[in-house]
Amino acid sequence: MKKILLLGSTGSIGVNTLEVIRKFNDIFEVFALTANSNITLLEKQVKEFNPKFVVVKDKNKAKELKNLLNGKCIVLSGSEGLIEITKNGDYDILVSALVGFAGLAPTIESIKRGKRIALANKETLVAAGEIVIELAHKYNSEILPVDSEHSAIFQCLVGEENKTIEKLIITASGGPFLRKSFEDLKFVKVEDALKHPNWDMGNKITIDSATMMNKGLEVIEAHWLFNLGKDKIDVVVHPQSIVHSMVEFIDGSIKAQLSMPDMKLPIQYALTYPKRLESAFVDTHFPTLKELTFFEPDFNKFQCLKLAFDAMTEGGTAPCILNAANEIAVDKFLNKEIKFLQIPELIKKSLESIEILNKIDFDTILECDLKTRELTLTLDT
Ligand code: NDP
Ligand code: MG
Repeated sequence: MKKILLLGSTGSIGVNTLEVIRKFNDIFEVFALTANSNITLLEKQVKEFNPKFVVVKDKNKAKELKNLLNGKCIVLSGSEGLIEITKNGDYDILVSALVGFAGLAPTIESIKRGKRIALANKETLVAAGEIVIELAHKYNSEILPVDSEHSAIFQCLVGEENKTIEKLIITASGGPFLRKSFEDLKFVKVEDALKHPNWDMGNKITIDSATMMNKGLEVIEAHWLFNLGKDKIDVVVHPQSIVHSMVEFIDGSIKAQLSMPDMKLPIQYALTYPKRLESAFVDTHFPTLKELTFFEPDFNKFQCLKLAFDAMTEGGTAPCILNAANEIAVDKFLNKEIKFLQIPELIKKSLESIEILNKIDFDTILECDLKTRELTLTLDT
């Protein structure tokens, strides 16, 4: 039995991961589950999956859950609880599915123990890719992508040598505003931005998909995961989200990974790799797909995508600033404090206002993240 520590079990990836574990309960067991504050769902999950530990970030909610569970499992709390469990827990695989920068520190603790990391939390690689990949090499920790595009690329690369890659072709659905004009984007509402055409995900990534920042973050994620420069990574819009991404090789051959969109597939692969196990989560029936279309992304309309490419080229702490400013801007948009097109404006201002450092270590990243958040909160648009 492989023991799983699932960070963010009450989120979209968390719930999908538990479905995979439920299906394969003869090979996986839950060691610990964590949430920010949703103890109603967490309590249900504890009753079904019997973890040894749970961690609730919100300390008051942790106390409440402790009373509800009445000794059924050990309840830890706060960010220190997340560090404690990743650093000292007895588990085999970490599923890193917190949202945002909060996922970085616990993921690093797990990498330092040489664990397998099923990585959904892309912000970890965006903010601190260099540090994370270096540590993974040093401690022999395998990072298996959960993000569907990166899982697709990873699957295309099985049996291939990295030096034979001509380029990665990352597909993007284009989100709910693909067909809107730049003018129309001025007036879009939070409710419209939260309606993703193909995927049911947490609020932050759904807004990132609407601005296409998600694709920008994924380009940076791919850069670190596959050790390739910007010139080797293309983005192509593919509204049907059937082709999850592709790899073009030096002989002109292209491999793609396809299926109906369902996050359980990449989650399962990250947990069972190198094995493929039988499951019936997705059923792809070609004659009903009608058409698969592809076109260039519009960098003028989706300025976040351009900001992300630029931050990746700049390097150093630029992607960390991009990520932190984006988290604050998305929060502000979700709270209806700013308009949709002010998201890229705030990020741009933050990138222009904060000094970008080239030499980075963990403390520099923590400082840079904090400083960017403080500044972005106070910026006027
Ligand atoms: P959700 O918002 O649905 O879930 C986030 C999870 O993290 C919840 O369990 C939440 O707890 C917990 N959480 C949130 N903030 C904190 C915090 N500060 N400290 C501790 N725990 C916290 O997100 P998703 O599942 O959609 O996404 C998770 C990650 O996976 C993101 O990085 C996203 O980019 C990535 N990803 C997601 C995909 C998807 O299909 N959803 C696809 C590809 C990548 P609570 O419920 O109590 O708030
Ligand atoms: Mg993705």
